[in-house]
Amino acid sequence: MPDTESHPASYQKHEVPLEYLTKWQEAIDVLASIYKVPAGLIMRVLPQQIEVLISSRRENNPYEPGEKANLKTGLYCETVMSSRDMLHVPNALKDPDWKDNPDVDLNMISYIGMPLIWPDNTVFGTVCVLDEQELNSNADYIQLIKQFKDMIERDFQMLKRNEDLETASRELAEARELADRANSAKSAFLANMSHELRTPMNAIIGYSELLMEEAADTDQEDSVPDLLKIHQAGNHLLSLINSVLDLSKIEAGRMEVFAEDFDVAVLLDQVVGTVQPLIEKNNNRFVLLQAPDLGNVHQDATKLRQSLLNLLSNAAKFTKDGTITLNAERESQSDGEWLNISVSDTGIGIPADKLDEVFVEFSQAEASTTRDHGGTGLGLPISERFCRMLGGDVGVSSILGEGSTFTIRIPAICPTVDATESALK
Ligand code: ADP
Repeated sequence: MPDTESHPASYQKHEVPLEYLTKWQEAIDVLASIYKVPAGLIMRVLPQQIEVLISSRRENNPYEPGEKANLKTGLYCETVMSSRDMLHVPNALKDPDWKDNPDVDLNMISYIGMPLIWPDNTVFGTVCVLDEQELNSNADYIQLIKQFKDMIERDFQMLKRNEDLETASRELAEARELADRANSAKSAFLANMSHELRTPMNAIIGYSELLMEEAADTDQEDSVPDLLKIHQAGNHLLSLINSVLDLSKIEAGRMEVFAEDFDVAVLLDQVVGTVQPLIEKNNNRFVLLQAPDLGNVHQDATKLRQSLLNLLSNAAKFTKDGTITLNAERESQSDGEWLNISVSDTGIGIPADKLDEVFVEFSQAEASTTRDHGGTGLGLPISERFCRMLGGDVGVSSILGEGSTFTIRIPAICPTVDATESALK
């Protein structure tokens, strides 16, 4: 009897999509017809059995697709799989090794088969032909079945590649999902920490103010400069904390839009009042170009104000002895009224290849700007997200060494769509 004990302890089943089965069916039909045998088969091994995957559509073929046979029963195919080599049995009835094998009971007394090997070098099964008569082969016949084997194994390569791609993209999706979850957990944590961080900072700022007043009242002016430094550092830290928390709140989907009616000119007036000292600090001239028809809008005033303050304080920060221009217009479009507010400066400008990056969190156009001008790289990303929450956007154009223009464009009426989602797009 052939050696059937040496097959691996466990075979592994490989899945094949329908389109390949259809193609292989055609091929096996051709193979069996060229050989003039009833049975041409593609067999697939399962952990403990072997199954007929494809069977030629010919008369007197005793094998039905889907039929299974147990391993370790002396099958021709099992020997092919364990030896990983071709097997040719011209006539089992004349061969003491093969005369009792299970296929003889089906009148299949001759066999030529080759192993099919999956790209990871595990056994898939066999491709074989069986006949009810003696089957004497020649080199052409062997070559033919070899070519079928090669064709099927090339298809395996494709299948394996698709499988690998699917696994990789599934793993990528899982990794992304994990990263997203970690990110929202981080954002949620920071948003929850908001109170815990702001309260002590406000205490430091408040008490330093109190101490400064007391120092002035009790003739201890010497300590005022130090207290002022505590006060300024506290304010700086608070604004940093606020930026980080704003961003986290947006990312955690907890930043809400509060639209209300307000007069645009009044808001601009407040904003200009706030940044005026900053603009003058670097000896800059300020120009306000304000169209007379700005009127009222129904928008989130706080977010628009903060975005404008970010743009204006950047302009003030990156411009010396220059001009900063705030230009506000109202525009009527087929999809409604829009507000265009631009902040232009004649400052250092931004290199063309860094223009996209200025809206990325924590990124700054030049490492040296951080040294010279400070900042966190959070102002623009937050402004962009705010403007998107308001149904609009913010854009930039700049020429290095000549200046920059940032333009906020928002609808006069804030859309009520899921604003957080649009900010995150
Ligand atoms: P920050 O100003 O705190 O660094 P921002 O997000 O507001 O963060 O800006 C990001 C970067 O964009 C700045 O560091 C700077 O390099 C560049 N930038 C922003 N506004 C201007 C401007 N008006 N002129 C030149 N560069 C600018």
